[in-house]
Amino acid sequence: MRDCIFCKIAAGEIGSQTIYEDDAFRAILDIGPASRGHVLILPKEHAEDFFALPEETAAAAMKLASKLAKAMRAALHFDGLNVLQNNGEAAGQTVKHYHLHLIPRYEGDAVTV
Ligand code: 5GP
Ligand code: ZN
Repeated sequence: MRDCIFCKIAAGEIGSQTIYEDDAFRAILDIGPASRGHVLILPKEHAEDFFALPEETAAAAMKLASKLAKAMRAALHFDGLNVLQNNGEAAGQTVKHYHLHLIPRYEGDAVTV
């Protein structure tokens, strides 16, 4: 979709710190991380939010989240993980392209999600 920053990042037209990529998804480090290792999973196909996302893509995103979460824990040794996904401004969504947050949590951190 034109003028969607996450479409451009997912397509590789705008640079990002990519930790994983396949035909359907790109996973990147968040530019304003809530904690060390904060990752966003972006589908390459534009969908504004969870409601617009095809069910198959929602399932595939969660499957990828499960895989990446385990690899991230092995690398970062965090103590906990928030899996978060915002839909609509009332819920805190700021970028209108579906994305799944993986937010590592460390004992004693002061992160609010
Ligand atoms: P939301 O509030 O929509 O659930 O989350 C949007 C997230 O995208 C925020 O955590 C914000 O820091 C991140 N973000 C916004 N623009 C960019 C960008 O250009 N690059 C990256 N890597 N992250 C971004
Ligand atoms: Zn988009």
